[in-house]
Amino acid sequence: MWGESELALGPQGLAWIRFNRVAGKIELVIRPILTFEHPVLHQKARKVARVDTSIQRLLDDLAETMLDAPGAGLAANQIGVPLRVCVVKGDENQIWGLVNPAIVKTSGTQVGYEGCLSKPGWVGEVERHEAVVVKALNRHGKEVRIKSTGFTARAFQHELDHLDGILFTDRLTSLDTLHRVEDLIGEERYEAEAVAAASG
Ligand SMILES: [Zn+2]
Repeated sequence: MWGESELALGPQGLAWIRFNRVAGKIELVIRPILTFEHPVLHQKARKVARVDTSIQRLLDDLAETMLDAPGAGLAANQIGVPLRVCVVKGDENQIWGLVNPAIVKTSGTQVGYEGCLSKPGWVGEVERHEAVVVKALNRHGKEVRIKSTGFTARAFQHELDHLDGILFTDRLTSLDTLHRVEDLIGEERYEAEAVAAASG
């Protein structure tokens, strides 16, 4: 499904991968998403030594599984693969496929609710950097740097945390902010459902 994908240059000269999904023409590989009880989600994932076809296949599976969920990002250990690989949906619906990602620059703070595909139906308040620059290898093994702000920056930080075995519930501003979506009512419920639908 990445056959049509090419490394392209975005408006700021940033490398990004456009995701081409053609319904019915691609093999969908949707992997089960593990939940917080699974030990692999509490462990630091291993660095990838070489970006080969098995890593490209892993990125494909992650993208498919994220879109199916649906979600805003997904880390390899969430599907049981303890490697430093993840996908994040960008502002323009592109999908970033990242290998050995690291945050190299941060600025500002944002406080908001987030959820996790590995803890379905729950949301909690987490403070994150407002903007981050992530350095990673892309699916061709080339180094890319991605600038992001707001919601996308939050998604990058959430996924990179997963690769270090850190969960959003480890970063709550207060345990009192952890809610089950179905226990909320009215506007709060509506907002929590939107947050849960954009989890990573
Ligand atoms: Zn998550």
